[in-house]
Amino acid sequence: MSVVYESFYIGGEWVAPSSSKTFEVVSASTEESIGRVPEAVEGDVDAAVAAARRAFDDRDGWSHWAPADRAAVMERLADELDARAEEMARRVSQQNGMPITIARRLEGAFPQLLLRYYAGLIRETTLEEVRAGLLGGRVKVTRSPIGVVAGIVPWNYPQTLATFKLGPALAMGCALVLKPSPETVLDAQLFAEAAAAAGVPAGVVNIVQGGRETGQYLIGHRGIDKVAFTGSTAAGRSVAETCARLLRPVTLELGGKSAAIVLDDADLGSNLESLFGATLLNNGQTCYLGTRILAPASRYAEVVDTLTGFAKSLTVGDALDDNTQIGPMASSRQRDRVEGYIAKGNGEGARMTTGGGRPAGLDKGWFVEPTVFADVDNNHTIAQEEIFGPVLSVISYSDVDDAVRIANDSDLGLGGSVWTSDPERGESVAARVQTGTTGINAYQPDPAAPFGGVKASGLGRELGPEGLSAYQAVKSTYLAG
Ligand code: NAD
Repeated sequence: MSVVYESFYIGGEWVAPSSSKTFEVVSASTEESIGRVPEAVEGDVDAAVAAARRAFDDRDGWSHWAPADRAAVMERLADELDARAEEMARRVSQQNGMPITIARRLEGAFPQLLLRYYAGLIRETTLEEVRAGLLGGRVKVTRSPIGVVAGIVPWNYPQTLATFKLGPALAMGCALVLKPSPETVLDAQLFAEAAAAAGVPAGVVNIVQGGRETGQYLIGHRGIDKVAFTGSTAAGRSVAETCARLLRPVTLELGGKSAAIVLDDADLGSNLESLFGATLLNNGQTCYLGTRILAPASRYAEVVDTLTGFAKSLTVGDALDDNTQIGPMASSRQRDRVEGYIAKGNGEGARMTTGGGRPAGLDKGWFVEPTVFADVDNNHTIAQEEIFGPVLSVISYSDVDDAVRIANDSDLGLGGSVWTSDPERGESVAARVQTGTTGINAYQPDPAAPFGGVKASGLGRELGPEGLSAYQAVKSTYLAG
């Protein structure tokens, strides 16, 4: 089946593209063509930003609606996404290789959870308060929507990560121009259909599918007031430079290379499902995964054996198959990248205990075997750089201080986890790790909790009430007397 679109969703309408360029979409599992959408160039971005500006600047429009009225539209949008959940999960799964069971749970459901969460939150949030000043008068503090938002998202969780931005931005009354990644363009069109069906006012959500140059043009556009970016650290630095020059507020959710610290009292074998979620979810194409497994020297061989056996046991196959646990990489370029890191791991002296090749019997699709490296030094390239594939590195530590030192010996700090039979001890170790988020015996980002990184993993926070503040312009009015 092939889904072909001839237009962009801009200003509440389906608008013809300004060039004849297109993105051909290919299944990551079968390499067959599954669809086509137009590719946005500068003229399309201009049209999308103009539509968003009109929607935002309208004095009777979305940004001036009562929060409860916006919340009702967001809930209708969630209902429309519910009605398209299976199709959404399938489109994402075909495009980026996410196993369908994971796509149903995350891409087919998490965005609705987020939209409903922010709809509820904005109904309860105080956007204006009057405080007693310290100099005799009173002060009125007002939180208004920040303006027109450029949202740039990667391909690994295209719907969920777009909604990390849409949820709080819509709740506050912002208008958005979203630019999905070229690898995941079909799900974005389905989202646009849901937005139209839900009666999201014209111009509040606009979607332009484009590549890096289109993204660069969008974030620097005069009509944009705030940038929300999720992607690689390298691209994030470039986005940050542009925003610094323009003094434009920016949120950056970037790469990770997190540590999963296995304490000496951990029972990994009885917690393999959680371990999978924390280290290999979505074929390793997840930013927060703990792909550096830190194991105590006293139990090193046992941890390596457990992980090796576990990796060997995983079912690799077509992402649309309900039995698949590890699907293909999102693109041939991504598979080349992962294979390059496997070669580096072997070249730098790590010991590969399983995987490393392409699975037998899967001649089409960009598959890589789940791979475990033992005897990894934290200075090795595979321990320092984000691989974004099903590749785990097991590193030995001598005591807890050493484990914390190794965990923190990284340019990145996004996720992480501690595995132990004593959760309190786990929390005290986790508290010493320099990272934005962490988990004890599992890792599951929650809409109610702020998500983001430290160091080169990003700036700012998404999710939770903290995520709402990124879309607010705060103004003080000094009231005399
Ligand atoms: P990428 O950085 O190549 O691209 C991400 C998006 O940014 C795409 O839409 C791309 O077209 C656009 N883009 C790239 N360069 C740009 C530029 N200079 N200006 C404006 N837009 C630009 O990343 P990717 O390969 O699509 O995604 C994988 C990366 O995303 C990984 O590094 C992963 O860790 C990261 N990621 C981070 C989080 C998080 O929340 N921290 C979540 C998911 C993915």
